[in-house]
Amino acid sequence: MRASVRLDRLPPYLFAELERKIEEKRRAGVDVISLGIGDPDTPTPAAVVDALAAAARDPATHRYPTNRGRSEFRAAVADFYRWRFGVELDPESEIVPALGAKECIFNLNLAFLDADTLALAADPGYPVYTGGPLLAGAEAHPLPLVPELGFVPDLDAVPAEIARRARLLYLNYPNNPTGAVAPAGFFERVVEFAREHELLVVHDASYTELCFDGYEAPSFLATPGARDVGVEVFSLSKGWNMTGWRVAAIVGNRDAVATYWKLKTNIDSGMFEAVQLAAVTALGELREFPRQMSELYQRRRDLVCDALERIGVAVERPRATIYVWAPVPDGFADAASWCEHVLERAGVVVSPGGAYGAAGEGFFRISLTVPDERLLEAVERMRESLG
Ligand SMILES: *Cc1c(COP(=O)(O)O)cnc(C)c1O
Repeated sequence: MRASVRLDRLPPYLFAELERKIEEKRRAGVDVISLGIGDPDTPTPAAVVDALAAAARDPATHRYPTNRGRSEFRAAVADFYRWRFGVELDPESEIVPALGAKECIFNLNLAFLDADTLALAADPGYPVYTGGPLLAGAEAHPLPLVPELGFVPDLDAVPAEIARRARLLYLNYPNNPTGAVAPAGFFERVVEFAREHELLVVHDASYTELCFDGYEAPSFLATPGARDVGVEVFSLSKGWNMTGWRVAAIVGNRDAVATYWKLKTNIDSGMFEAVQLAAVTALGELREFPRQMSELYQRRRDLVCDALERIGVAVERPRATIYVWAPVPDGFADAASWCEHVLERAGVVVSPGGAYGAAGEGFFRISLTVPDERLLEAVERMRESLG
């Protein structure tokens, strides 16, 4: 048996070795605290679960859905975008459901890339921005996100030859893993760049609903001209504690949405209609729910940042997301060796920045998706391991 060359081109899974070590520690009786993965620890709101249960009891939801989605779902997304972002969307042509942002982002590569083309992808960034283009038989070109520039890419630094071959540009604000938010004027520059190079902007809006200190993340589509050059992938996973449900939507440029839809009709058969109806409840009746979650994460952010400062790790307090992106303490060769030290000496799992791309080296990511007391204990153990 032989895997495809396409699959072989993917870099080795950086967390595989770490997972093996965690398993080994747990078996040896170590109480491992994992701050590795970003997966909300609190449940989906009960009203959403109830809506699912009621819809699942109706046999009308048991048949094949369509890839266009139910009209209630598209209307709920449009209403939410108007209320939250002041963005008007046409439910008929500018909204299609996606089985999670991950599915959507991966499939956009198949829909838009050919052999000699590439996707510009934030580095550090969500792994699908780089793995997806490779699996589509194309390439990914990293755009470094560095603290000096506020973790936004320097679009002027993209070589002309690379820009010429680029068909997609992946962006994500509020940003995973850096926790950065888009500075004023940045999205305007993105629209200009996309026009100049005739590429499709894909804005991954997985964290727009989890913001702190009064900050409210905008939709990329609220930027003048954005709809001419871009789409946004909006996910309920993080904001409504629905990672297991696989609910997202692609919204924006109608040609791009139609192209995605055309591809999808050849790949899957849409989202279970009962899940679509549960999402209608989340986007309609539970609009304020992510704000309550934001309060929880803001409190945890402060717990972690205060504790890190006490042990001499200077962190920038993020204004959004569920992550703290912190510099590796002095005395460690790289992020991987620090993360290994923390696992060995403290039984705590944090992710090495280099796992998200070369520009992430020198940083590590802490996920805020564990209960407060576990978070505090983890940072306390890190302190002891440094002593
Ligand atoms: C969690 C995450 C996703 C995945 O979202 P799903 O809708 O659950 O597939 C996509 N992008 C980023 C940046 C994420 O952190």
